[in-house]
Amino acid sequence: MEFIKSNLDFVNEKIKESAERSNRQFDEIRLVAVSKTFPVDYIKAAYEYGIKNFGENKAQELRAKHQELEGYDITWHFIGRIQTNKVKYIVPIAEYIHSVYREKELKEIDKIAKKHNKIQKILIEVNVSGEETKGGIVPEEVEEFIKMAMHYENLEVVGLMTMAPYTDDKGLIKNIFDKLRELRDKLNVKYEKITELSMGMSNDYEIAVESGTTMVRIGSLIFGKRNYTTGG
Ligand SMILES: *Cc1c(COP(=O)(O)O)cnc(C)c1O
Repeated sequence: MEFIKSNLDFVNEKIKESAERSNRQFDEIRLVAVSKTFPVDYIKAAYEYGIKNFGENKAQELRAKHQELEGYDITWHFIGRIQTNKVKYIVPIAEYIHSVYREKELKEIDKIAKKHNKIQKILIEVNVSGEETKGGIVPEEVEEFIKMAMHYENLEVVGLMTMAPYTDDKGLIKNIFDKLRELRDKLNVKYEKITELSMGMSNDYEIAVESGTTMVRIGSLIFGKRNYTTGG
């Protein structure tokens, strides 16, 4: 599993360089290793390297891996589409849920969090690019959604998440990430707990770091190409 370590060396170096270019500190940026579809042995290899944050996008897979990795000091991130009937599997495990954008999700997450005596940290998924296939709410409606979230006692909105379009147009991606940062900055004035930005994947994490992201979600660049036919 040496390739995972050399990939992590590479990614960390790139994050460091991007941070320096934008006058940021390397340790302001949390690397979330997206382990979806990959076996727990891969997670163990990254963990040995020092990675503690892992991201999954399927409730059952998160649950199975969490069980297999009992005793590991892992911070789990749920980054996938939320099915309300699966929230009961996600909340007990995930420290952060990155992809919240429907009122029924707020309601269900709050309900399950209450059962577990937990304040669930969530990020609001924002559709900055306006692509119809993407989840998330439009930037203009984020504040209203946050106000709604605040009615739920067991939820804490800690930040915003977005996905850029899959394109080589770096200017377009930068523009989207900058817009999310500006929105976070504006909201942070009123809501001091909203500090996190979850943006940047294998394809565009360097741009995200330059735009001020606090969490990058990187999968294939660390673990290799995903095989969805066998991996689920
Ligand atoms: C799969 C996934 C990632 C990681 O994608 P890579 O391109 O493999 O780095 C990041 N964020 C979300 C929401 C994902 O579903």
